[in-house]
Amino acid sequence: MNRLRDYLKMQIDIMTLFPDMCNAYLNESIIGRARKKGAVSAECFNIRDYTLNKQKQTDDAPFGGGMGMVMYCQPIYDCFKAICEKRGTRPHLIYMSPCGQVLKQEKVKELSQMDNICILCGHYEGVDQRVIDEIVDEEISIGDYVVTGGEMPALILSDAIMRLCDGVLSDPECYSDESHFNGLLEYPQYTRPAVWMDREVPEVLRSGHHANIVKWKEEQALERTKERRPDMYDAYLAVHPSNINKKRKK
Ligand code: SAH
Repeated sequence: MNRLRDYLKMQIDIMTLFPDMCNAYLNESIIGRARKKGAVSAECFNIRDYTLNKQKQTDDAPFGGGMGMVMYCQPIYDCFKAICEKRGTRPHLIYMSPCGQVLKQEKVKELSQMDNICILCGHYEGVDQRVIDEIVDEEISIGDYVVTGGEMPALILSDAIMRLCDGVLSDPECYSDESHFNGLLEYPQYTRPAVWMDREVPEVLRSGHHANIVKWKEEQALERTKERRPDMYDAYLAVHPSNINKKRKK
């Protein structure tokens, strides 16, 4: 993919009631190293810091009754306002929600082209609809199930975006070969030893024959996608019809 935003660093801001939860993840591994060397930037904002009441309460009982508590508008709105002021721009605001559009790699690619993204994490029963209507640009879900808070969903989204940014992985090939990037699942991977529990690494991968290895990987990716995700396979063949011929010749 042509990286349009090479010269600008991705800034992701996360609005949460549990910043430590997010920082614990963002400080580790590949993302932690990328942040340290300045390839990407991420900052967590505690919504509680923007409350105006002494108890620093951020939620209230729902109108109309029902279970649980709802995060009320004012601290979320003021937190976002502070982020806009700090960045000198209005970041694209995403609310993590099981009612949102289910996340796909295509959406991740689209978001990775932006410069400023802000993510709102809900908790308890969720967030008062009026603040969503007032400031949120889009709602994204990580799948058709419910988790306790928006923190893990926000980290999943941030991680997926950041690994597409320059300087996070060592080479664009690291992500362009991976599952979903080009609409296919990845081929199986092997490392040493060559034989383990009588299971051998496919001969071709040890042959050193580059062209054959590339061909094997392509075939395996197609095969695997066809078997495990026929929906993705059909969508892929619709835009890459030449691969049908490749398969038929076999
Ligand atoms: N009452 C809500 C669920 C609230 S769960 C409902 O039934 O729709 C609390 C918070 O966790 C949500 O506000 C959201 O930010 C986050 N969350 C839960 N499941 C999620 C999912 N599948 N995708 C993204 N965020 C999710």
